[in-house]
Amino acid sequence: MSLTSCLTAATSASFPGTPEFSTALAFNANQLAVRTSGIPAVFVFPSSESEAVAAVNCARQFNISVVPRSGGHSYEAFSVAKDALVIDTHHLTEITIDSKSQTAVIGAGNWLGRIYDVLDSNGRFVIPGGTCPPVGIAGHALGGGYGLLSRQLGLVSDAILEVRLIDAAGLLRIVNSQSDPDLFWALRGAGANNFGLVTSFKFKIFPLPSALSTKQYTWANTVENRNAVVAAFSNYGPSLPNEITAEVYLDSSYLALSLFRFGPLSGLDAIASPLLAKLPPNPEIVDSAEFGGYVDLVLHENGNKITRPMLQDHGLLQETDYFKASSFLSTGGPFHRRVLMF
Ligand SMILES: Cc1cc2nc3c(=O)[nH]c(=O)nc-3n(C[C@H](O)[C@H](O)[C@H](O)COP(=O)(O)OP(=O)(O)OC[C@H]3O[C@@H](n4cnc5c(N)ncnc54)[C@H](O)[C@@H]3O)c2cc1C
Repeated sequence: MSLTSCLTAATSASFPGTPEFSTALAFNANQLAVRTSGIPAVFVFPSSESEAVAAVNCARQFNISVVPRSGGHSYEAFSVAKDALVIDTHHLTEITIDSKSQTAVIGAGNWLGRIYDVLDSNGRFVIPGGTCPPVGIAGHALGGGYGLLSRQLGLVSDAILEVRLIDAAGLLRIVNSQSDPDLFWALRGAGANNFGLVTSFKFKIFPLPSALSTKQYTWANTVENRNAVVAAFSNYGPSLPNEITAEVYLDSSYLALSLFRFGPLSGLDAIASPLLAKLPPNPEIVDSAEFGGYVDLVLHENGNKITRPMLQDHGLLQETDYFKASSFLSTGGPFHRRVLMF
């Protein structure tokens, strides 16, 4: 038996030279990085856990490395690799909510926008992930997952209660704090493609408060204002109550500070007053809004270019021209923090 016949018997597969293979290669968010990663040998698209197990066992039999893919939003395109078998989980989109225990089983092929939409519609629940709707849950949760609710609710990886995973021996394992404490610990932060192929997660889900809110303040983009905003943010941002998240936006043409509250707009200024009192005077308030759910806040943060029904179609959300660049503020002076988000 060849690898091709093993995989086609196991699940749906796309090989180089076919339109399906080109489409699969074009899926990743950073196409520049895909070009430097090298071309995989084959993509497979299991629609069940048993198909995924069969695909991993073909890889074992033919000694080919396995690379899992969820939302394709690795900035480094770590979800493709030269000559690898890419197991694309995008058909594994189960979301089963248990409101009573406040838990949800979420398949590895889901993306943040779809999850926020479904959790919101089924009991106003949330997980504290990022604001980019097409980011895949598997890479996000296994690597940490930080968002505008994380000061209040933690990282997405903190909310993992259990993981279903196919290990390198081709065995399906149910990993939790009781079954495999070390592996469970490692998965929650270093799990992306290091310990196996995750097929689904069981998460703790969180009830939303009556409202979420945001406010954005801007100033003339002068050196004095920049120094004052970053200094105030650095000195007073970290000690704000956890229900407040602050972000500074700073580039050559724009200087702004946004506050997000895990709660209503009324009272936001009072809670954030230790920071607000240290900012330059007379800011212009360019945004002030209240939301019934995180899904609405996420749509707002995406400039309302995306509508709620679009969240259910990953193809409508995916962009493929992201790239990665890093820059750090130097230490010393008022710029003594590197991350402009608390
Ligand atoms: C535009 C953009 C916005 C972002 N915003 C945020 C943000 O607000 N907050 C934040 O914390 N992060 C953010 N990120 C980072 C993002 O969370 C990570 O890049 C994450 O790894 C992407 O997950 P993915 O599943 O989409 O990526 P993929 O490229 O599919 O996978 C990423 C890694 O996870 C592995 N992997 C994928 N599926 C599985 C699986 N089923 N089992 C095991 N391993 C798997 C892959 O092999 C790869 O190593 C953002 C990234 C982008 C491009």
